[in-house]
Amino acid sequence: MTLSQIFASRASRMQASEIRELLKLLDQPGLISFAGGIPDPALFPASEFAIAFANGLGPDTQAQALQYSVSEGYMPLRQWIVGEMAKIGVPCTADNILITSGSQQALDYLGKVFLSPGDTALVGWPTYLGALAAFNAYEPRYDQLTANGNRKAESYAEEAENAGGQVKFAYLSADFANPTGETLDQRGRESLLDLTESLGCALIEDAAYQSLRYDGEQVPPLLSLEIARKGDIETCRTIYCGTFSKTLSPGLRVGWVVAAKPVISKLVLLKQAADLHSPTLNQMAMHEVAEEIFDGHVETLRDAYRQRRDAMLAALDQYMPANVSWRRPEGGMFIWVTLPTEMDGAELLAQSLESIGVAFVPGRAFFADGSGGNTIRLSFSCSDESEIRTGIEKLGGLLREM
Ligand code: PMP
Repeated sequence: MTLSQIFASRASRMQASEIRELLKLLDQPGLISFAGGIPDPALFPASEFAIAFANGLGPDTQAQALQYSVSEGYMPLRQWIVGEMAKIGVPCTADNILITSGSQQALDYLGKVFLSPGDTALVGWPTYLGALAAFNAYEPRYDQLTANGNRKAESYAEEAENAGGQVKFAYLSADFANPTGETLDQRGRESLLDLTESLGCALIEDAAYQSLRYDGEQVPPLLSLEIARKGDIETCRTIYCGTFSKTLSPGLRVGWVVAAKPVISKLVLLKQAADLHSPTLNQMAMHEVAEEIFDGHVETLRDAYRQRRDAMLAALDQYMPANVSWRRPEGGMFIWVTLPTEMDGAELLAQSLESIGVAFVPGRAFFADGSGGNTIRLSFSCSDESEIRTGIEKLGGLLREM
């Protein structure tokens, strides 16, 4: 028997994604990439981090920075997050916060703590691919989350039971979702809170892009709406996952979870078992830089990404054939494009890489049921306006040819 034959059953659900395989091809020189959902490295506050890391290793804090630390996370950073959460209508204390190694780790832990094999997770069709990858390890069944209230809790519960488990959570990004760029309005959020309340399940609010709003009115986070209903966080079902990855730096791997204390206490045990704690020096530097420049820096990011979004929308208007449609996102990094039904996003990508050197992500990988073949995700975060224009013009030309 080979070792691959004795992997645990959960390992069969851990598959390399089509996307990751395709992204390996992105090193070609001259390629215009709308593929990566990543921040523009030119906008990293690198000099501020250089100072903050040097300070963290200074005589007063070096022992703390280099020593083992508590699993909950660096207290000044947790306190800073308490202040930020208050600003968005989420009163809480440091005891409601766990620092994680990016919000990706939070998604893994939440899968681990809630899902027994065969339990149901409600996710959008499509949803964030990395969430599916994190949850897959815990062998769930997926059901389609429709946030407009037109499917009743009983129907979800019954199907979950028939499949031998129960609905444990609904997962979504309510603001500028990856991959659709869509934002759920307040009514949709209220109806989602009704649904999770009726099901008695958790609601995982992935707030990765929440700070990156370019226009329109901010909609209160699900957790803040639930706190408004219930009076305080301790009886809330919503578990909020935040991250510095889209604002200050993804490479330092600092994210956080905000939830009722019993949830945080359990997640702390998982963190202890998994990696003890997130790197203290990274948390210290993140705290120092956040405290110094967060609001101003986010404003700079908004201005830069807003222009790129507008450039991409204008180019799509100008160059796309009439049978292609897309959504206008109010923030985030993505524009979700629907091709004619008979077209396939993955085939288009292969063709596009070969003939015009433009990359993007085919949509199918974001669908838990494998549908969505005629969709693609375009990211505008890492290209300048002229590159965006050129890339979309080429893509429009290729689509017309096909
Ligand atoms: N959630 C969403 C919706 C994302 O797009 C990403 C990053 N692509 C993450 C979570 C994970 O981010 P991180 O672990 O860097 O915080």
